[in-house]
Amino acid sequence: MVRCPKCAVEIDLDEDEVEEGEILNCPECEAELEVVQTHPVHLNVISEDEDEEEAETEGDDGDMRDQALEDEEEDLEE
Ligand SMILES: [Zn+2]
Repeated sequence: MVRCPKCAVEIDLDEDEVEEGEILNCPECEAELEVVQTHPVHLNVISEDEDEEEAETEGDDGDMRDQALEDEEEDLEE
């Protein structure tokens, strides 16, 4: 079992199915992860756009809150 180095979620990954240099997306935080080693698998977060993300976050903040509220409402209905 491999864990995302960014959010630590468990990623169901077979070390025989990946190759060094392969790029994966974390299913939880959607970070781009590069396979830097196999046997055992070791992942590195690719964070080249980190500065841009910070700038975008200011504008997207309201949208993200709205989406979180919608998710909560759906949970309550169930
Ligand atoms: Zn993650």
